[in-house]
Amino acid sequence: MEKVLAAVKVGASRTELREFAMPDIADDAALLKVEVAGICGTDVKMYKQPLAGGPVIMGHENIGVIARAGRTFTDRKGFREGDRVFVEHYVTCGRCEWCHQGQYRHCEATDWRYNPDAIRYGYTSSERAPHLWGGFAHYMYLPWNAVLHHVPRGVTPELAGIVTPLANGIEWALFDAGVGYASTVLIQGPGQQGLSQVVACKQAGADLVIVTGTSKDAPRLEVAKRLGADHVIDVHKEDPLASIHRITAGKGVDVVLDCTAGAGTQPILLGVEALKRRGGTLLVQGEMAEFPNFPLGRVTVKYVTIKSARGHSFKACELALAQLASHRFPLELVTTHTFGLDRTDLAIKSVGGEGAADVIHVSLMPWN
Ligand SMILES: [Zn+2]
Ligand SMILES: [Zn+2]
Repeated sequence: MEKVLAAVKVGASRTELREFAMPDIADDAALLKVEVAGICGTDVKMYKQPLAGGPVIMGHENIGVIARAGRTFTDRKGFREGDRVFVEHYVTCGRCEWCHQGQYRHCEATDWRYNPDAIRYGYTSSERAPHLWGGFAHYMYLPWNAVLHHVPRGVTPELAGIVTPLANGIEWALFDAGVGYASTVLIQGPGQQGLSQVVACKQAGADLVIVTGTSKDAPRLEVAKRLGADHVIDVHKEDPLASIHRITAGKGVDVVLDCTAGAGTQPILLGVEALKRRGGTLLVQGEMAEFPNFPLGRVTVKYVTIKSARGHSFKACELALAQLASHRFPLELVTTHTFGLDRTDLAIKSVGGEGAADVIHVSLMPWN
């Protein structure tokens, strides 16, 4: 009987290679041969936590080729064997108001925080049949309610591996924060997420994009410039608020996007002050559960809108794939590292800054 090799999280910061039985593929289901599973900051955070339900095959940003597809799957979804696809991590109900809008991220069927039976790639326990619920594996199971996108010709699997941060960039900067023609934007943090926001903002017509980072981010800040950032600021070397005021002639920016990790309350405090006098928008990721001494008075006086970063819609994914296919921006500069399945632990730690040097984006390639 054919076996499927997978890297399984078996405890906090612990991975084991395990084999699973190749599942039967129902007539309305399919099987993905995984080519690339992208690793992001969420993986770094989740990997450190104890198991919630059971062992997990992580990997929620998945690209691959459909190896097997039931006839009903192909008839209903329009995807057939041999198609290269991006699979969203949301596995949906298909019936609710959010699903009808293509906002699968909000569907209760995939909301693991709220619904103990939720299914989400990279999060759901591998004890749940048919077990293959994550991209750190040779194969992944695709039920009828998996959400798929065609990867355009000319986009390599590795480049397609950054579709998730890019879709998030489009969702958060453009749809949520309203960045567009002539906007001025501060992006805090030049990781894969911040750099993707640079591309989304420049494509949308932003006049001014400023990116902040720390001294260890120097190579990433260089990439930010190559992707179109107008100014970069090393917050260890200069006072970021003074620099933003100098660059904007004292006006401040329209939009602030927080893409930092582990920086505490500082980016939000800087963001509130860096926004223009009235009516700016601040996008937050909610890294901290609480915010002591939150400057609510300043937020109110400045008439600030706060938006919450929360994944991506179907449309944002389609636009991100089109962006990758255009090759307008040298996004290959972001796809810096690849690892095989046997180095999954190192791959995750490298994204968290504790492994390989100068990592921006990591592709786990299970067949390497
Ligand atoms: Zn992610
Ligand atoms: Zn739904």
